[in-house]
Amino acid sequence: MRGPDQRSVAIIGAGIGGLAAAITLAAAGRPVVVLERAPAPGGKVAAAPLGGIAVDAGPGALSLRPVFEALFAAADTTLDRELQLARLPLLGRHLWPDGSLLDLPADPAAAEHAIGAFAGPAGARGYRDFMARAAKCWAALEKPFLTVQRPGALALGAQAGMRGLLGTSPFGTLWDALGEHFADPRLRQVFSRLSTYVGTSPLVAPATLMLVAQVEAGGLWAIEGGMARLPAAMARAAAAKGARFRHGADVAALRVAGGRIAGLTLRDGEAIEAGQVILNADPATLAAGHFGAAAAKAVPAMPAAKRSFSGIAWAMAGRAEGLDLPRLTVFHAAEAMAELAALTYRGRMPDQPSVTLWAQGRHGVAPPPEGREGLLALVSAPARADGRRMDPAVLATAEAAAFGAMARAGLAITRDATAVMTPADYEALAPGTGGALFGPAVQGWQAIFSRPAARTALPGLFLAGGATHPGAGLAMAAISGRLAAEAAMAERI
Ligand SMILES: Cc1cc2nc3c(=O)[nH]c(=O)nc-3n(C[C@H](O)[C@H](O)[C@H](O)COP(=O)(O)OP(=O)(O)OC[C@H]3O[C@@H](n4cnc5c(N)ncnc54)[C@H](O)[C@@H]3O)c2cc1C
Repeated sequence: MRGPDQRSVAIIGAGIGGLAAAITLAAAGRPVVVLERAPAPGGKVAAAPLGGIAVDAGPGALSLRPVFEALFAAADTTLDRELQLARLPLLGRHLWPDGSLLDLPADPAAAEHAIGAFAGPAGARGYRDFMARAAKCWAALEKPFLTVQRPGALALGAQAGMRGLLGTSPFGTLWDALGEHFADPRLRQVFSRLSTYVGTSPLVAPATLMLVAQVEAGGLWAIEGGMARLPAAMARAAAAKGARFRHGADVAALRVAGGRIAGLTLRDGEAIEAGQVILNADPATLAAGHFGAAAAKAVPAMPAAKRSFSGIAWAMAGRAEGLDLPRLTVFHAAEAMAELAALTYRGRMPDQPSVTLWAQGRHGVAPPPEGREGLLALVSAPARADGRRMDPAVLATAEAAAFGAMARAGLAITRDATAVMTPADYEALAPGTGGALFGPAVQGWQAIFSRPAARTALPGLFLAGGATHPGAGLAMAAISGRLAAEAAMAERI
């Protein structure tokens, strides 16, 4: 039998990372096949067919537009040609049980004004200083770190980036840094979301995660027709450049020969040869042996204590009435510390979780659209060390707490159809992760230097996705896919 074509690349998974890798490789003329077990591309960017409409069950908005503009440009098309984006006027509406309300505009000058009206001049000043520090973090890390193959802290230390980073006092936690800027506990809660968005408690996340505030200030966009149009458009762009897609292709094992990757085997026994493989599944799944023993040691094991949060998500088709809503509303818990301590230190659901609600039919604050609307309510939940199903009583309590908090704020949600995802459901999709949605938690200032990089210990095997460098979220997963493709193309075979 002939050996595999060394230039052929098999990509396991058509999540955002896998798709970005497919575009980059196909645009460079490499033979690419994408093997995806689901019937459609997207992974976590899934649309659930509910009550006759497609409801987004994952992310509700896109940031860092230039990342996607560059990807589509590589495939000789444009983001605007492929997708209709609508910039959100508000980053979100924040509500508290005592009736406080803060609408946070995307534009920093308008946000400063809104925060001044909400919390007084000290709040506005704190926000201005905080945003200046967030901008410094972003400037220090973007070019020398986030968009390149992962350099270690030592390598970065030799660069200007590290000096800039040190100027932002990065060694404390995000929670402490927020306390330096915001005396009002509600503002500390608002900006502590910057780390829970990537599945990490602000009590352990490094202050550097404030750079997410700078990313958000660059804008958030909704995709007309639903977020799932993004992976569909990315798949189209990759296919137009020659990538082949096989859906319903469930990869059971990686094949290793002569100390390097040789291909893979599907669950139905079919063997596929490939000179290189890019794995878009979570590396924890690989380390746990779910792609066979031969490749399991290609990455270090992921300790359960290092996992990011999971979540409980209710995707719904229905109506949300009683309160006009923007696209994103956060119903904050009254006691931030009680919520965070339960999630961070006790590994249990908080009694009063904060709830994030995406009202998918709206951009700015608006009354409910005609007919049914897609809604996604999300609470953070600990990843489960054992992957067991969530106790139905715990789920029922969390549901009552989440929907009770929204009802007390005046929101009446009528659900015609609901799909619920729990940590056990997410674990079933990514075995070995405990349902963690964002890979390793970003704990401690060195965490950003310790995420798995594209290159693994097994020649020919590369990693892409939100659990790898540079991080979770749509744009970061897309960057990781490009980096994996570039690492594969740079490998001497
Ligand atoms: C409820 C929710 C809300 C979120 N909110 C936001 C948000 O607001 N903003 C944001 O930026 N991010 C958000 N995220 C995170 C974001 O969706 C992810 O970080 C990103 O989509 C991850 O992409 P990925 O490349 O890691 O691939 P994944 O989405 O993890 O996809 C991996 C793919 O690999 C496939 N696969 C795995 N194993 C195999 C196998 N053995 N054989 C074949 N195929 C396989 C899977 O089927 C899947 O399609 C959210 C996620 C969730 C779940």
